[in-house]
Parts: sequence; structure tokens; C-alpha cells
Amino acid sequence: MMKLIGISTKEEILNILSETNPDKISEITKEAYRVKVETIGSRVHLRGLIELSNICVKNCYYCGIRADNESVNRYELSDEHVMEGAEFALRAGYGSLVLQAGERSSPGYTKHVTSLVKRIKELSEGKLGITLSLGEQNIETYREWYEAGAHRYLLRIETSNPDLYSKIHPNNTLHSWERRVQAIKDLITVGYQTGTGVMIGLPYQTLDDLADDLLFIKNIGVHMVGMGPYLKHSETPLGRLGVNTTSLDLTLKMVSALRLLLPRINIAATTAMQVIDPYGRERAVLAGANIIMPNMTITEVRENYQIYENKPGIKDDADISKSKLEENLAKMGIEIGWNEWGDSSAFEH
Ligand code: SAM
Ligand code: SF4
Repeated sequence: MMKLIGISTKEEILNILSETNPDKISEITKEAYRVKVETIGSRVHLRGLIELSNICVKNCYYCGIRADNESVNRYELSDEHVMEGAEFALRAGYGSLVLQAGERSSPGYTKHVTSLVKRIKELSEGKLGITLSLGEQNIETYREWYEAGAHRYLLRIETSNPDLYSKIHPNNTLHSWERRVQAIKDLITVGYQTGTGVMIGLPYQTLDDLADDLLFIKNIGVHMVGMGPYLKHSETPLGRLGVNTTSLDLTLKMVSALRLLLPRINIAATTAMQVIDPYGRERAVLAGANIIMPNMTITEVRENYQIYENKPGIKDDADISKSKLEENLAKMGIEIGWNEWGDSSAFEH
């Protein structure tokens, strides 16, 4: 009988990740769901996602909006559109929103984000929790945004294996694995509820790497995780390799193994899961995830934020994204924690 409760070693994680028997996989996901319900409850919390801008200085080999992709129409949302998104999140009862964008750093950009965070806090009288996902910044910038009112930050390590990292990024100081690790540590130091995560099914990646990823997540001490399948984008160096997309099963096993390893953590059921299976996010919830990030970006620019191909819902608006998600969750009997922040119990602990 495979050990599921209280797993902590690489071998125990690998036992889960390498399981191929569908009945056993179902046992693993059910146990992870049970542990989640017992530890942090059954409700899912929502964070409305605003894709602020697709302008990025970086050139990650996997990402469709990388700086060198000249076929992308670059945009930056006006402050009015961002504030409309915040009003929608408030009205919809989402409890929190996420501001995500390509990576940029300049004093003007820092100030702009600071003012948006303050305006969202004022508009919602502090009711909306604010998560940022704006890439690597120096610690002073992280502190300025934290003091303005953002209290969560997502920065994926992408892979915990530095050699693999160097195969999926250009080898220069802008794309340094060590710098990425330092940025995650800086976020924890500043006081953010910090999230990291990885892509699953990357070219050159092994099950060993994925087990190490989960141990990295545990050891660095983050409070939230967003993991999802790597998905191909043809206009990227990695996409041109033509590697097939991984199965949802491996992603679900990663979610369950993480829940069993860290019962209190917040785990997102990511949009990329929905690309492999229309019910991918809901299935991830039933495998141990507890956070979903419905898209609130205005329809006019959604197609310009295609980090991977076949991104779902690019023709939808915030209302449609909300009703489709609600319908899917209701079908699976999953309850939503409306108007709640749903902070990580790992952080409070
Ligand atoms: N620029 C910021 C950053 O990189 O942290 C935030 C935005 S970036 C688009 C958010 C995440 O998208 C990345 O951390 C990466 O894991 C994911 N991503 C990019 N390209 C992807 C792909 N082809 N398949 C799956 N996930 C991808
Ligand atoms: Fe830019 Fe983030 Fe895409 Fe890398 S993953 S190219 S930093 S948007």
C-alpha cells in the first residue's frame, strides 16, 4: 500500500508521480481532496485576474509574449480599465484580484503600479485582497508595492533544476535562476504571502525534476503554489521543438502530491489545466487545489495575452468567464467562498 498521509521524502513523492494505474491515481486524488477538506475546508476561493500588459523585457523560450515575438500586438490597459476590473471583482464577490503582466522595471513603472494598488484599496475600502504577478523586481520595489496594499505575490521558479532552467531561458543575467530564487526569498522577507510554482511536462524535464520541484516548494517556505502544464506556443524557441503537451493526470498527481506534502498551503487550479481538459480546473480542485483565478481582462486585449496557444475564453468577457466557471463548479458540487480573501492557512499558521 502506497504511503499517502504525512509524505515527506523524494521517494514517496516519486511513488505518487510514477503511478499509472487509473484506480490508484483516483485513490491518490481522493485522499488529497480529503486532506484538503479536513485541513482548510472544501470551499474554493477566487481571484479575478487582470492582465495589465503584455509588454515584457524578457525572452523566456516558452512564452508567447516574449520580447522577441514581433507578431504580438503590445498593449497596456488604461487605469480606467483596471479600475473597472476592480469594480467588477468587488461586485462579483471575488474577494481578491490579481494584477499580472510581462516584466518591466523602471521608477515610472514602479510608481504607476503603486498608484493602481492604492486606488484599488481605496475603491474597495480595503475589501479586495490584491495579488501581484509582475516578475522579478528589486526588494525596494516589492516593499513599496506591499506598503501600498498588495499582500500576495506570485513568482514561479518555473523549474527547481538550474540546468533545466538554463535550457528554457537565454543564458544571461536577466534570466538567472539564482536571481529568481533570491527574488522569491525577498518577497517572503518583505512579508508577502508568497506563491511560486513550476511548469509540468517541459521538454527535457524528468519525474525526478518534478519531485525535486515539490521539495523546493516545501523548503523555500512559500504559502501558495500555482503549477500548470507547459503548453506549446509555435512562435517560441521551445514551441518549435514540437514537444507534445503532457497529460492532465501528471498535473493532477503533482497537485495531489503537493497537497499531501503541504496540507495547509493554497494551491491554484490554473487556466492551463483547462486547455488540456475543459473541466481541468474543477478536476484539480477535486485533487486538492483550492484557488481559481477567473479572467476579468477586457475582451479587446485578451487575444494579445496568449502565453500559450489555445488559451480558453479569449472571446469571453468578465461576466461570461464568471458564469461559465460558476456553472462548471456547481456541476461538480464545488462551493465558492464568496467575498472572502481565502488567505493561505500556511501563512497564518
Ligand atoms: N512575467 C511574469 C513572470 O514571468 O513571472 C508574470 C506573467 S507570466 C506570463 C506568468 C506565468 O506564465 C509564468 O510564470 C509561466 O510559468 C507561465 N507560462 C508562460 N508561458 C507558458 C507556456 N508556454 N505554458 C505554460 N505556462 C506558461
Ligand atoms: Fe515575460 Fe513572464 Fe513571459 Fe517570461 S514568462 S517572457 S517574464 S511574460
